[in-house]
Amino acid sequence: NGPSSPKKIKLNDENRNPSNGQINNKPKISIQDQRRNLPVFDKRNKLLDLIKRHKTLIILAETGSGKTTQIPQYIFSARLQENGKIGITQPRRVAAVSVATRVAQEYGHGMSVGDTVGYSVRFEDCTSNKTKIKFLTDGMLLRESMFDRILMEYTVVILDEAHERTIHTDVLFGIVKRAQKTREDRNLAPLKIIIMSATMDVDHFSRYFNNCQAVYLEGRTFPVNIYYTIKPHDDYQTSCVATFFKIHREAPPNHDVLIFLTGQEEIEACAHRIRMLAKDPDVKGPSVKCCTLYAAQPGAQQMSVFQPAPPNTRKVVISTNIAETSVTIPGIRYVIDSGMVKARTFHPSTGLELLKVQKISHEQAWQRAGRAGRDSEGHCYRIYTRSQFELMEKTTTPEIQRANLATVALQILTLELHPNYFDFLDKPSKDAVGLACEQLKLLGAVNSVDSIILTPLGRKMSKFPLDPRFSKILITAQQYGCLQEALTVVSLLSGESILINPVTKQAEAQNVRQKFCSAYGDHVTLLNIFREFDTVGQNNRRTWCHEHFINMRNILHAREIRAQLEQVCKKCDLGVMSSCGGDLDRLRKCLVMGLFMNVAELVRDHHYITLDKKQSVQFHPSSCLHRQQPHLVLFTEVVQTNKCYLRGLTTVEAAWLQEIAPEYMKTHTLRSNSS
Ligand code: ADP
Ligand code: MG
Repeated sequence: NGPSSPKKIKLNDENRNPSNGQINNKPKISIQDQRRNLPVFDKRNKLLDLIKRHKTLIILAETGSGKTTQIPQYIFSARLQENGKIGITQPRRVAAVSVATRVAQEYGHGMSVGDTVGYSVRFEDCTSNKTKIKFLTDGMLLRESMFDRILMEYTVVILDEAHERTIHTDVLFGIVKRAQKTREDRNLAPLKIIIMSATMDVDHFSRYFNNCQAVYLEGRTFPVNIYYTIKPHDDYQTSCVATFFKIHREAPPNHDVLIFLTGQEEIEACAHRIRMLAKDPDVKGPSVKCCTLYAAQPGAQQMSVFQPAPPNTRKVVISTNIAETSVTIPGIRYVIDSGMVKARTFHPSTGLELLKVQKISHEQAWQRAGRAGRDSEGHCYRIYTRSQFELMEKTTTPEIQRANLATVALQILTLELHPNYFDFLDKPSKDAVGLACEQLKLLGAVNSVDSIILTPLGRKMSKFPLDPRFSKILITAQQYGCLQEALTVVSLLSGESILINPVTKQAEAQNVRQKFCSAYGDHVTLLNIFREFDTVGQNNRRTWCHEHFINMRNILHAREIRAQLEQVCKKCDLGVMSSCGGDLDRLRKCLVMGLFMNVAELVRDHHYITLDKKQSVQFHPSSCLHRQQPHLVLFTEVVQTNKCYLRGLTTVEAAWLQEIAPEYMKTHTLRSNSS
């Protein structure tokens, strides 16, 4: 069941530059020479001229051309930013941090990131008053726009990776367009807008930005041989590992491999298998250096993927779609494409939002393949058949058309605009906008769905970098006297999961964590784990986490998030860090205050139905409540496989729903009450 014979596809056969194809064999090229070798380098004068002449410009160039790292530096060297800053947005936190670090290195003179070059991502600000080139996630620029809607801090805003069409970038298109116009009308310092991408529908974007100029820079790419599997695989992870070792046996060392998988757990599992197998004396081939790349990783580890492998060693990088267009790893000759991606999806009809592993689009498949052809001719193994490929969507649907819009709607409202009339590049569906406004009304952020004025509560909610439902929990916790506990729970829910559930040791993991389990459910259980972790001495933490199957990195990250949220609370006059001690009813009521729209009711033997959209669901086996059947639960996560499962559960009482959300309960009666 091996791959079929190669089908050659030239992604681009012009501008070949074989001398550039040997990064890995030539050990040291100075960082400035590397800069001069990039395709954008020759075009810099032409680019600067275009940037000078146009207030809005679209720049299209192959991934790895040097758009993100070089263009901001060119603008800065030519002083085109004048007295303001250059802001460059990235859809992903990992990319913002790694690119800023790289640019700070390139800019040189012993500069560390945070000086002239800095970054700002959620829960981490690494800038100073000297910062002129600022990389930030699109979400951060959006937050900044809530405090200054015409973005006076910047004279140049670069919206990078525009093709990704994250919700935040999509809203930013509207915000920068408006800011530019307003600044023009008021005779303020002009705002230059640059839209960058490796691939996009230029006409669509150009039309939206008043028919602005677009420039296409020819990149350097080499042909990539594409291989499909002959039969479909149902276990793409195993196929990726097997394909890797097939390549590993045959390819020369220093021909590196990039594997695309979907998320942290899967990537770590696959890395583990490759590391173990590579040690097996029966496995032929050079040594293996296995790196991983995903959002929840600490910065230093992320940077290690850029280090060349030692001689006689093959580097394999296992990545989420971060490596598709956001970051370019030198030396890759082989790509293994699982064909899958984890994406946020939302169904207005069920009211549920979930992170779901799904098939990629053609656009993504071609971008992934292209990663193998940057330094020289490469190979891409697709872990799917040609006919499966044919069935994939052509392009990726913009996130705004498949996500819960409550957060976005709240952000738009802080600008005193109504989401119904916002100038979107592509309008989200009426249903989705309507639902978002309805949610905000139920949460008390606005008085009516048509209002463009936030209530004082709504204004407070908008100050938190959180889903409005979670902001509401924190704001209420102050009144209920359990802010400490609520902060912990919300922080734990805002990062990646702290629980490790290895496939082979699931029962063991659940057994050692049994002592933390609460009859109130998973959120209180998480709280118990966090409290216990806090009492463990610094030197024993690693062992403790290992013994209890807790991801130490993620729990430490949750702690940082908690500290940040505590700061926001203080700024919002929620300064008193009250604790409810053992009276956990207060905490559970707070959770209901924010999450009454996420409640499920028992119908019969372990079968539940969501109150909001009457979806039939069950408890996920990993929940500590899964053997019990409380009458009512609230949930924070939905996992969809062939069935719909709820995870992150807390038991609640019917009387609380009536007390806390009387308005909502008028239209969403409990079955037990109606019969
Ligand atoms: P683009 O935005 O056009 O995709 P980039 O500016 O991100 O291109 O990348 C230009 C080059 O910089 C790539 O060859 C990439 O390998 C290199 N690069 C980016 N970040 C790092 C890093 N942290 N270490 C080493 N090289 C890097
Ligand atoms: Mg880039």
